[in-house]
Amino acid sequence: MKDAFDTQLQNNPDFPGLLTVIQGGAQGSGLPGSAEIRSLLHSLELAGGRIFLNPPAEAGLGTKNDGHNIYLDPNLLPPNATNAQLAAAAVAIDHELGHIIDGATHYQQAANPDEAAQRGLNSEGFADRDEYIAAKELGVPMDDPQLQSLIAGIDARDGGTSTDPNSQFSKDVVAAGANYASTDHPAPRP
Ligand SMILES: [Zn+2]
Repeated sequence: MKDAFDTQLQNNPDFPGLLTVIQGGAQGSGLPGSAEIRSLLHSLELAGGRIFLNPPAEAGLGTKNDGHNIYLDPNLLPPNATNAQLAAAAVAIDHELGHIIDGATHYQQAANPDEAAQRGLNSEGFADRDEYIAAKELGVPMDDPQLQSLIAGIDARDGGTSTDPNSQFSKDVVAAGANYASTDHPAPRP
């Protein structure tokens, strides 16, 4: 799992804490860990992707992906980050993992521009789904509380989360996330 992270990120003083938050702590530590993030990190490793820490000059510009690698906003790893801050960083990473692993757009295979646009929106839906599951596992809020409440409603209605793309939960969340991404919101995330 560690190898999914670039060396520079591994050398960040917050890195051991970030790994512990994702892996979960010893019993009684209060750190549940996230199977969702661990699974997607494994897939990223198999795909040869890496997670990089953006330089200080890019602080505040957001966490991004280029379809292969992830670039973490340094603001998400402040000095001596708390477990809650580390969990928020892990959830932000998971959103981008969702884009790369589950929401790969394959624009080049789209039959026309409209289909390419829809594939982009669906990718956002998959990323939102994965972010929601990771946030739920780690017990921290999503970046966008409005979106979290929307997906929580689907979670309750469909009887729980699922990462199976053919599950009702996935279909409903991807549709809702795509629709949500196509409308305007304060502080949208890429
Ligand atoms: Zn996104």
